[in-house]
Amino acid sequence: MRIPRRQALGAGLCLLGAAACRSATPEENVTRPPTSSALPVVFVGHGSPMNAIEDNTWARAFQQLGRVLPKPAAILAVSAHWFVGGTWLTDNPAPRTIHDFGGFPRALYEIQYPARGNVDLAKRVAALLASRQAGLSSEWGLDHGTWSVLRHMRPEADVPVLQLSIDRRLPPREHLAIGRALAPLREQGVLILGSGNVTHNLRHAMQHMNAPGGATPGWASRFDAEVARALSERDDDRLTQLIETDDGRASHPSVDHYLPLLYVAGAASRSDPVTFPVTGFDLSSVSMRSIQLGA
Ligand code: ZN
Repeated sequence: MRIPRRQALGAGLCLLGAAACRSATPEENVTRPPTSSALPVVFVGHGSPMNAIEDNTWARAFQQLGRVLPKPAAILAVSAHWFVGGTWLTDNPAPRTIHDFGGFPRALYEIQYPARGNVDLAKRVAALLASRQAGLSSEWGLDHGTWSVLRHMRPEADVPVLQLSIDRRLPPREHLAIGRALAPLREQGVLILGSGNVTHNLRHAMQHMNAPGGATPGWASRFDAEVARALSERDDDRLTQLIETDDGRASHPSVDHYLPLLYVAGAASRSDPVTFPVTGFDLSSVSMRSIQLGA
């Protein structure tokens, strides 16, 4: 099955401008010794595309995360920016770098992330998701939810990278279930990497850019804390329910930036330790929390 071109459109474009880092707390709890052969699973809050080229708190935190994680055989990225009507895997042996944003400096559009793809792995992942009618797509490549982070985590671009789309039609629990189906990949050296933001209200962030200042709103800080609590308690049902709360709706007028977290949580086991390599808010209300499950 091939994806029609019209379906290969990103949604929820990240239009956040230059970072205005209000607070950040890179933590030092990501260096646990390995307890099994399974790779950790990781969710990264990617924030503004400018984090790809700025030397800022977030960029340095992504670099640190890349240093402490084992080098994987491949990376399967679930980015908020491939939010379409189906479950698709990129199968291009040389995926293109997609600049899926507008109004940024030229330097950002000149970035290339030349990681290879892996056609065989794409087929294997599609087979794992056969009951979901997962298909292969050579139309999509690596969007900025993936490359803006990996540019720091793996600057050498020396690990093959696939993307898995997010089916916009599915309820939250189904995204969790797809994550569960991906869990065996962890034993095969594949790093499952979700990329979104625990809170992502673009309208609020844009207002902050136009009129900087002000504290992080209560809905953002409460939702960020509730998600952290549900993760720490390994309460996956709660993770799927939180998005339906008032704070969840305020934090995610569109759910695209939240759903990658459910894939990561789904792929984790109950015994995986939970750590938060990065915490803090950018642009007042955008949580930059990163999450690692497993060691
Ligand atoms: Zn984004």
